Amino acid sequence: MELSYQSTRGGEAGVTASQAILKGLAADGGLFMPSFIPKLDRSMKELSLMTYQETAYEVMKLFLTDFTEAELKSCINQAYDSKFDTEEIAPLSKADGAYYLELYHGSTIAFKDMALSILPHLMTTAAKKNEVKNKIVILTATSGDTGKAAMAGFADVEGTEIIVFYPKDGVSPVQELQMVTQKGENTHVAAIHGNFDDAQTGVKKIFNDKEFAKLLEEKGYQLSSANSINIGRLVPQIVYYVYAYAKLLLNEEIKEGEEINVAVPTGNFGNILAAYFAKLMGAPIKTLICASNENKVLFDFFQTGTYDRNREFILTTSPSMDILISSNLERLIYLSAGGDATANANLMKALGESGSYSVTSEMRERMKGFVGGFASEAENKAAIKKLFEDTGYLIDTHTGVASTVYSNYKEETKDDTKTVIASTASPYKFSRSVLEAIEGNQETKDEFEIIDHLSRVSGIVIPQAVEEIRTAEVRHTTVCDADQMKEAVLGFLN
Ligand SMILES: *Cc1c(COP(=O)(O)O)cnc(C)c1O
Repeated sequence: MELSYQSTRGGEAGVTASQAILKGLAADGGLFMPSFIPKLDRSMKELSLMTYQETAYEVMKLFLTDFTEAELKSCINQAYDSKFDTEEIAPLSKADGAYYLELYHGSTIAFKDMALSILPHLMTTAAKKNEVKNKIVILTATSGDTGKAAMAGFADVEGTEIIVFYPKDGVSPVQELQMVTQKGENTHVAAIHGNFDDAQTGVKKIFNDKEFAKLLEEKGYQLSSANSINIGRLVPQIVYYVYAYAKLLLNEEIKEGEEINVAVPTGNFGNILAAYFAKLMGAPIKTLICASNENKVLFDFFQTGTYDRNREFILTTSPSMDILISSNLERLIYLSAGGDATANANLMKALGESGSYSVTSEMRERMKGFVGGFASEAENKAAIKKLFEDTGYLIDTHTGVASTVYSNYKEETKDDTKTVIASTASPYKFSRSVLEAIEGNQETKDEFEIIDHLSRVSGIVIPQAVEEIRTAEVRHTTVCDADQMKEAVLGFLN
């Protein structure tokens, strides 16, 4: 059965999966949604015996219905290979009673690799299927991890160019070094003066600029997005929640049909939405714990039903979650409105105009499976330190947010349902903040002294991704204002 995709704002419908992947964002500014959420057609018992790659096929085939079996398997096998430093691809580690699902074993040591190592293959396959002659230009705003993971995925992929914008002072030194040293003739990076929301808003504006699209078309280019709004990122992310459940079953940590909770450190709402999709597909997931840092716009939303971005933007030690406009939330809004695109479009219009909107009590009722929580900087630090001292298990600052929120949730609700915590980055990616959490101020040490020290303290081998940037040459030096992004794109393409 072919699944078709439509815009959450009603302007486009009847789009195939491959077309939705190529377009990224719908023409009316909405996000693509499948016309229904398919159910898993394998039991968890069957899935428990499968490899990550096999599980990926079983999940993704249900969404990407215009890909052939051979095409999809080829994409999967090219993505989930020795680029990952563990055969399991997404291993589970048990610590202090929770299961940490380690999503950071790919080439850029953050969870973005889980989707961005396959997106380029999905996209080039989609381009072939749809006889696209233009060069595809991937345009991406990043709060640090997407940009690097997207460039690593797309570097020197034929028929593509990739352009990344990041906030100059909003990423960690390791994140910035990873980006500015990126190799590949088709990779382009610019730092902008502004924060992540400025970068993301600028990218969205470019996508909605019809005249600019025409200009690019004349030059033989068309834009697409590697941001987490692309359905080609959302779908691969569903896989690891199904996989995690199946492995818990295999390892007899849970019984068949037993419900689990999932806690996710959340920014753009992509990762946790994927967990929700896994639930809707039939994975026995009870509560989705949405963990925010001090930019707690989602916590407030789940508390009150009002989304309000009119507030101070706070720079935290979990920069990949420093976001006030969570793009993927639109998909939940749309689902909660019962697929009413007009209702959703009106709310998104209000968000654009006044920076806030409120949902109805009926919609809130449909979102009951989500609970929001947030961690202060101090709580996050303390949680990382305590987990490390009690168990020897070291987590990064993003995972620390989820860990804190989960602990608080458990204490408040006494809900002792077994819980998977999405572990979204290697502690080495945010080594200064992690080391400061466990040993206090590290002002006098430089970045690599910190990394080496962290390795001695934790005993965790320094990942290849970090070793690489020690000596790599800086290749990208462009800096621009948020209102010059269009010019920067043209500059890169000429
Ligand atoms: C992107 C990112 C997040 C947030 O994920 P969303 O899908 O945007 O909610 C959390 N942690 C890390 C390390 C990330 O890179």
